[in-house]
Amino acid sequence: MAELDSLEFGKSDFVLLDEVNMEQFLANLKLRFQKGRIYTYIGEVVVSVNPYRPMEIYGTDVIASYRGRELYERPPHLYALADAAYKAMKRSAKDTCIVISGESGAGKTEASKYIMQYIAAITNPSQKQEVESIKDVLLKSNCVLEAFGNAKTNRNDNSSRFGKYMDINFNFNGEPTGGHINNYLLEKSRVVKQQAGERNFHTFYQLLSGGCEEMLEALGLHRDANGYRFTREGAICNTVSDDKLNHRAVLRAMRVIGFSDEEIQSIYNLLGTILHLGNVEFENDEDMAVIRDLDVMEQIACLIGSETDAVRRALLYRTVATGVGEVFNKGHSPEEARFGRDAFAKALYERLFCWIVRRINHVIEVKDYDPARHGKNTVIGVLDIYGFEIFDNNSFEQFCINYCNEKLQQLFIELILRQEQQEYQREGIEWQHIDYFNNQIIVDLVEQPHKGIIAILDEACLNVGSVTDTMFLDTMDARLIRHPHYTSRKLCATDKTMEFRRDFRIRHYAGDVTYCIEGFLDKNKDPLFQDFKRLMFNSSDPVLKEMWPEGHLSITEVTKRPQTAATLFRNSMVALVEKLASKEPYYVRCIKPNDAKCPLALDEVRCRHQVEYLGLLENVRVRRAGFAYRQPYARFLLRYKMTCEYTWPNHLMCSDREAVEAIVNQHGFQNDVAYGISKVFVRHPQMLYQLEQERLNLI
Ligand code: ADP
Ligand code: MG
Repeated sequence: MAELDSLEFGKSDFVLLDEVNMEQFLANLKLRFQKGRIYTYIGEVVVSVNPYRPMEIYGTDVIASYRGRELYERPPHLYALADAAYKAMKRSAKDTCIVISGESGAGKTEASKYIMQYIAAITNPSQKQEVESIKDVLLKSNCVLEAFGNAKTNRNDNSSRFGKYMDINFNFNGEPTGGHINNYLLEKSRVVKQQAGERNFHTFYQLLSGGCEEMLEALGLHRDANGYRFTREGAICNTVSDDKLNHRAVLRAMRVIGFSDEEIQSIYNLLGTILHLGNVEFENDEDMAVIRDLDVMEQIACLIGSETDAVRRALLYRTVATGVGEVFNKGHSPEEARFGRDAFAKALYERLFCWIVRRINHVIEVKDYDPARHGKNTVIGVLDIYGFEIFDNNSFEQFCINYCNEKLQQLFIELILRQEQQEYQREGIEWQHIDYFNNQIIVDLVEQPHKGIIAILDEACLNVGSVTDTMFLDTMDARLIRHPHYTSRKLCATDKTMEFRRDFRIRHYAGDVTYCIEGFLDKNKDPLFQDFKRLMFNSSDPVLKEMWPEGHLSITEVTKRPQTAATLFRNSMVALVEKLASKEPYYVRCIKPNDAKCPLALDEVRCRHQVEYLGLLENVRVRRAGFAYRQPYARFLLRYKMTCEYTWPNHLMCSDREAVEAIVNQHGFQNDVAYGISKVFVRHPQMLYQLEQERLNLI
């Protein structure tokens, strides 16, 4: 305990601050950070600051020191949180989840990996082979998903460009039996274009620098990333030097997971195809696109198990059906052909990514679980999803990502702030109201049926061809003009050039973000000519064919309008939030200390902003005003009645509440509790530890 309260390291729980205000909060955060204490609690929430340097706090000895301990017995750590989530799940057979949030580069993905490592390390002490192999696959899946889903951005050299929610399943013994990964919105536009200073997904560079000579030759590739349009930008800013090593690690991981050699070959064939596609040029022949370089067509055909001419035709023509069912081929203009090519490359990559996730799920999925024999199957979910993004140029992707963060903030408010306050009121316990900003209004602005931005966007996308991005913007400006969190472009205007601007602005809970409207309609419709789907479905490679099941439809059968990207995303977010809300949540709130990725420097302005929008001060206030634990009288009594002479074996009092009072008074905890209508509220966890200890001594 001495270390926990030592002033030298600051307060280990923000609840213990002398006064709750931003200055004290930041001072404590900074002091601890500079002393190498990157974790601090707010009750059961872990606040983590990215150290940007290796820390000696993740070794097996440290893991052992957290194992089975209560949260407050050791210095704050992710391991303590993971242990608490694990214990809660085991004790009460309830599903738990760990929600990790924070902006890009704040340390979410690293945190999720430490949590998984901890859980893997403390389970299966008897080293059962089948459990060990499940754990191995769960851990190795990170390596593969990072290769295909992460990229160097200006904020983070290893930025996750997809959202990930992973369930780990446990049997009644608390041993991992499997898992399931949900992936969300891969930023596929990165495949064809990257901002200055950024890279394409790691896997392309890993292949080019780490692939063996024979493999590259078979793929028709050379090592120079500069020679491919899709990797050129990244080749210039190539500061990530481990590509070669990582290539081997990914290959090993894929083999451990159980990818066959054929599957691995198909994956690399697709990566090669995408790189070649990027270099396909279209020339103009009387407004029609033509391809002069047929060698590259042949190369692609060979890699995707198709015919040279089929590839060429898919890139140059599209099949069109008339109203009366006639079918003919319409040639693309060069511009259409370029658009089609890029859409094809993006779709190939996205399908590949989703296929890899499905493939991993197939291996880790819990099979033959019989609750009658094995007891209840419980779950710990770990959510590592993109944090709030405010770039110089924000587009459809940022719009989706920021909406996702609004949803998660809403869940946090719901679970930590509102439910807490409502429970006190319901139980009739005196409560000092804490003001917090409820962001429901912004969630509604985006997702409300008929009125929200997604609905207006979908409506605009229904009118094929005729509606432009600007017309969509006009509709939004007209309909949302009175919304307090929406600013139309006219009001955005600060100088004369603004007449031409095509922006709208949302006042998010984390700050104002201006979105450029360009590409919204296309990205939402996400069109891909049916001809590409058919091309892939007809591939002689069964792995590739499997990725394109809808390719069997003939053009006259394709009538159903697919759901738009924004609507799919909204549905997946609604489902995610429902899933999380059904579990007992644990939170990790990550803070990025500075933008220079620099150890020991803590930029107060940046941190203040994050503390504000993560709602951490409100979190401390709610926690301080309240009681850490609560239990219904009957349950409390059942568990601790043996520690008090008046309640053992049965009490003779009028109510369970009085009996609980007797236990509390006998131990001298009068000042540490409050009595609600149906529950006893306990201020500090220490009281429960003591009771637990006494109980153990007696049984
Ligand atoms: P996010 O997922 O929030 O975007 P990451 O988890 O990828 O951020 O972290 C970004 C980088 O910061 C990592 O690649 C690593 O270099 C560094 N980092 C994050 N957390 C830690 C940690 N606990 N210890 C050491 N370095 C870390
Ligand atoms: Mg990440």
